[in-house]
Amino acid sequence: MTTNVAIIGATGSIGRQTIEVVEALGPDYRIYGLSAHRQSGLLAEQIKRWRPAKAVVTDPAHYQQVAAAVSGWEGELLAGPEGLLALVTDPQVDLVVSALVGAAGIQPTLAAVKAGKRVALANKESLVAAGAVIIPALAASGATLLPVDSEHSAIFQCLQGQAPENLQRIHLTASGGPFRQLSLPEMERITPEAALQHPTWQMGGKITIDSATMMNKGLEVIEAHWLFGLDYERIRVVIHPQSIVHSLIEMVDGSFLAQLGPADMRLPIQLALTYPKRQPQPFSRLDLYHLAKLEFYPPDFKRFPCLELAYEAGKTGGTMPAVMNAANEEAVYSFLEGRTGFLKIPRLIAEVMNKHIQMVCRQPDVETILEADRWARYFTRELIERG
Ligand code: MG
Repeated sequence: MTTNVAIIGATGSIGRQTIEVVEALGPDYRIYGLSAHRQSGLLAEQIKRWRPAKAVVTDPAHYQQVAAAVSGWEGELLAGPEGLLALVTDPQVDLVVSALVGAAGIQPTLAAVKAGKRVALANKESLVAAGAVIIPALAASGATLLPVDSEHSAIFQCLQGQAPENLQRIHLTASGGPFRQLSLPEMERITPEAALQHPTWQMGGKITIDSATMMNKGLEVIEAHWLFGLDYERIRVVIHPQSIVHSLIEMVDGSFLAQLGPADMRLPIQLALTYPKRQPQPFSRLDLYHLAKLEFYPPDFKRFPCLELAYEAGKTGGTMPAVMNAANEEAVYSFLEGRTGFLKIPRLIAEVMNKHIQMVCRQPDVETILEADRWARYFTRELIERG
């Protein structure tokens, strides 16, 4: 039986790698739908190559460009966020790969979950901001959420067959990013160009900056809280510069289980697509004979305050993680545009979180979460303008 796959965020790094995986898996998997925001040229190429039944341009301003470029294609081209919701809830779709960047993933991910789909989740921000509505919706609809994030895929694999009471805690590994050796004064002068050079992973711009500030790991801590139903005291971060051990679980008897593999996102993507089956893959393989060393050490919360902010936001709960995430997105884009310094990113987030603390809604619905997200973006931009 063919699995119909919808890839939302198809032109980003995870989206493109998902297409490679689907291609390598052969005829059992079909690209049924694709979406992109503004990369109209690449989306048009993907449509012509893969001839999906549906495609979506979420930024309506780019719709005509794509439509003109794919004349002769027999599928349906949709526009805007409504088009995205139509694609992910399409009865023909078996599996949705949520590979959008940022809080834009909240509504389509939630819609796919409510429609009872298998959802391969790469968009961690949706769970960070809206885990409180996505996780209960899963149980109600019978949908399955499969982690694509390499750390969460590792934990998910390690937990197979383990009774919950056997688990002491989980350890999320972090490469530490390109600046793990820099002092604070050196970090003041970090440029976007330097921050975009990641030592072990090839990724999109937003996640690369999040890795440099370690906010990426902070977001992953909150993501793990929702995916595995663990208190924050049971989620630890450990620096592991080689990015070979993708994460570990620690059992009550002191035994550790780890998942290892090359730093190649196509492997966790493939597992999310084929689970519970495993398939051979042509991409990359670990060679233990050439692994010189595997190092582990604790993170430095002083130099990477984003990590602490994320724990704080997660523990506060309610609308706070959505606010933290939105402030981070705005701060990161302003850093990439050269309007904010690198260390200003955590300072902005902290300021926005401090402002929000009195207004936290403890049990938000999705509207309240989106409202908190909008408020945080507005306030962050205002702070950036004030300088
Ligand atoms: Mg990750």
